[in-house]
Amino acid sequence: MFAAEFEYQKVSSVSEAIQLLSSNEDAKILAGGHSLIPMMKLRLAQPPLVIDIGGIDELRGISVDNGTLSIGALTTHAEIAESHVVQGVAGILWEAAYGIGDPQVRNWGTIGGNVAHADPASDLPTVLTVMDAKFKIQGRGGITSRGSRTVSADDFFVGSLETVLEKNEILTAIEIPVLAENQHAEYAKMAHPATSFAVVGAGVVVTVENNICTAARVAVGGLTPKPTRGPTVEAALVGKELTDENIAAATALIDGDLGSDIMSDIFASAEYRRAMAAIELKHAIFHATGLAHH
Ligand SMILES: Cc1cc2nc3c(=O)[nH]c(=O)nc-3n(C[C@H](O)[C@H](O)[C@H](O)COP(=O)(O)OP(=O)(O)OC[C@H]3O[C@@H](n4cnc5c(N)ncnc54)[C@H](O)[C@@H]3O)c2cc1C
Repeated sequence: MFAAEFEYQKVSSVSEAIQLLSSNEDAKILAGGHSLIPMMKLRLAQPPLVIDIGGIDELRGISVDNGTLSIGALTTHAEIAESHVVQGVAGILWEAAYGIGDPQVRNWGTIGGNVAHADPASDLPTVLTVMDAKFKIQGRGGITSRGSRTVSADDFFVGSLETVLEKNEILTAIEIPVLAENQHAEYAKMAHPATSFAVVGAGVVVTVENNICTAARVAVGGLTPKPTRGPTVEAALVGKELTDENIAAATALIDGDLGSDIMSDIFASAEYRRAMAAIELKHAIFHATGLAHH
């Protein structure tokens, strides 16, 4: 199916994009186009104006400064998967980016588009939630009376295909705390065989001191409308040695953190996804702690 008729405008600055968004209700930003264009072809989105931000160089790039990894919103999954910088300071993200889709998807899809689209089956919302990432957002003021703001991953995702981004705001960059030597992180997913989207994905960051887990962040995605943190699992891990018995006992508790809004489709029932959440979380912690290897 062809998309409905629309105007196209390519911009060269963030302020130009925000100006256009502010004066054209229902306009849409185009980054890599790997979610927006399918949505338009299916007529699930019919924006009268598409604003192509692909030429804004300031939105690209990867850098580390003062313990923070910064990634521009237009940075592609392939650029992240090929970055030795990301590999060195945030291996969980580096590996997750490599596991996205196929080479074509990774070459076009961007980190900003991935999280702004907020597909429950995407990997990066879950990974960035366990990494306690911060989202840098630029607005115009006026309608929202906001200039720029920074939102944590825990607050950024609102629901399925829904974030806190307002109509005239652009996500410009994502900032991620660099992992410390004693922090171990992993993401494991049951991938859809056709697309690699997460049927169930699980991420973990554990801090280990003198063989004891002193802090933990866990989240699962793919089965709930937005990434779901597992506070009960986190509490059960802290203060324990990360043995296979302790990990299995703690991850089994994720069921209580999931709530009742569990996705179900022809590929996997809600009941199956629930069961897989504990298994993928256990895999992630086993890999993070070296109890299992890829
Ligand atoms: C076949 C296929 C397989 C895939 N497999 C996976 C997978 O395994 N795992 C996974 O995580 N993802 C997967 N994806 C999704 C893909 O990785 C892209 O990240 C995703 O399509 C969106 O990124 P994009 O840059 O293409 O955004 P676009 O399609 O250009 O935009 C998506 C949405 O975000 C908005 N937007 C984009 N950038 C910004 C910004 N900077 N500020 C504000 N709003 C913005 C747009 O207006 C639009 O609403 C797959 C996609 C396809 C087509």
